[in-house]
Amino acid sequence: MSTADRLVDYDELLTRYEPVIGLETHVELGTASKMFCGCSTTFGAEPNTQTCPVCLGMPGSLPVANAAAVESTIQIGLALGCSIASWSRFARKNYFYPDIPKGYQTSQFDEPLCVDGHLDVEVEGRTYRVEIERVHLEEDTGKNLHVGGATGRIHGADHSLVDFNRAGIPLVEIVTRPVPGAGALAPEVARAYVTELREIVQALGASDVRMEQGSLRCDVNISLNPAGATELGTRTETKNVNSLRSVERSVRFEMRRQAAVLDDGGRVVQETRHFHEDSGTTSSGRSKEEATDYRYFPEPDLVPLAPDADWIETLRAGLPELPAARRARLTDEWGISGTEMTWLANAGALGLVEQTVAAGAAPGDARKWWLGDLARRANDTGAELGELAVTPVQVAQLCGLVSAGTINDKLARQVLDGVLAGQGDPAQVVEAQGLAVMGESDELVAAVEAAIAGAPDVIAKVRSGKVAALGALVGAVMKTTRGKADAPTVKRMLEERVLGS
Ligand SMILES: [Zn+2]
Repeated sequence: MSTADRLVDYDELLTRYEPVIGLETHVELGTASKMFCGCSTTFGAEPNTQTCPVCLGMPGSLPVANAAAVESTIQIGLALGCSIASWSRFARKNYFYPDIPKGYQTSQFDEPLCVDGHLDVEVEGRTYRVEIERVHLEEDTGKNLHVGGATGRIHGADHSLVDFNRAGIPLVEIVTRPVPGAGALAPEVARAYVTELREIVQALGASDVRMEQGSLRCDVNISLNPAGATELGTRTETKNVNSLRSVERSVRFEMRRQAAVLDDGGRVVQETRHFHEDSGTTSSGRSKEEATDYRYFPEPDLVPLAPDADWIETLRAGLPELPAARRARLTDEWGISGTEMTWLANAGALGLVEQTVAAGAAPGDARKWWLGDLARRANDTGAELGELAVTPVQVAQLCGLVSAGTINDKLARQVLDGVLAGQGDPAQVVEAQGLAVMGESDELVAAVEAAIAGAPDVIAKVRSGKVAALGALVGAVMKTTRGKADAPTVKRMLEERVLGS
């Protein structure tokens, strides 16, 4: 059980071991129809309503490859700097499982569509090159639903149901080579890689890459080498890690767990492991000690894929601006440093800041809110920035109210609270709660005069030359007006009355 796992302190393990990570990412393509038949791919439909003889594996049915899926896969390969094979074949990966109606998965084996690419990711000012071994095209499996157990897993369940709506949805698998050299930052590098990959696929429009819906799924491999050793340690594979944060946490946990096993003179078991979101731990799944023989053989019902050079070049020319190029352009346009841009991107704030700027905010103001107050609130609730109940347009409106002097930063935070609580746009919250900065109203004049009358000793000090003492009175007025006054205005009003200037 995972709860019984002994864990080594993270910093301490790094003095003895070097982590090596590897990632296998599955992306469900956003094509309208499935990989080898015309069935719809819409998410969330009634179980088993999007099926046909082909994706149910009926005898005599014949598959036809989806051209849009092949194009998307080649574009992903090109975006990752891969070579595109001029000859590639599908293969049958034979195994039995209830969610795989044909008794095999149509995948690619020794002749994948794309090979030998790379993806550079930046973490804390350093660039890490993640080498891509292959990008291949396959079909998704159906989905098993285990009913009656406490955990939703098969153990303890009364019975299981299968939904074949997902069976046959095109799936692209992107496999990295082992990534050594990340050291203490291995968890962050793994996360940065998945983040960057997700953004690339999104920029290509190839998938909606929603990790929570399973359209981007990640298997995280991790092993530890004794420091200085060159041979790779035994790896474990944590399956279906379904958020960016979990990618990072699962790597960190596995490093600490494996270090304890090795410290105790034990041996890491080569196996798949499950990640548990609630506890941040992993537990043992299926052993991979004995290599499974999938008896791959070329798929006889499908013609080989042989994309010609012209087609590949047309697809290359059609690639959109990729995230790295976009970041370089925005770094320049916004006049910020590369490090600031990396923070923005790694915080998942880039698109949000870009949209906020597009809605009229100054880049500096947009960055300040998303990386400051909003990042803190997202962090407090364990949410992603984009999940907060505030839109880039609303943040731009907030910035607009501050720069127009309607509210100050302090009031803006209260306005933000209102927006996040669903009270409407910033202007509506200002109106409803009366949060606007006070002009030089009778109320403010009264507050200033009351402050002066209440502190003759301070006034004497100021008049004897200690002008800085006025600060105490500014504070007093801000307090009486509950932060709604504009501090520079208050200071000017005090100076006019006390110093006669
Ligand atoms: Zn079908």
